[in-house]
Amino acid sequence: MPYKVCPYCENVSYSAADSPTVKWLCPHCEKDVSHVEGQITAPLKKGQHNSK
Ligand SMILES: [Zn+2]
Repeated sequence: MPYKVCPYCENVSYSAADSPTVKWLCPHCEKDVSHVEGQITAPLKKGQHNSK
């Protein structure tokens, strides 16, 4: 899930609608963070096991 760190309030904003045509507003301070470079969370591997 892509996310951005809001430069205004420094809270993490996750993408609700994964569309580049939609403005990405910070849900915390409602500033437009569309210009902020998005971060991609590390993909979780399916079938990951805790080896004991
Ligand atoms: Zn914000």
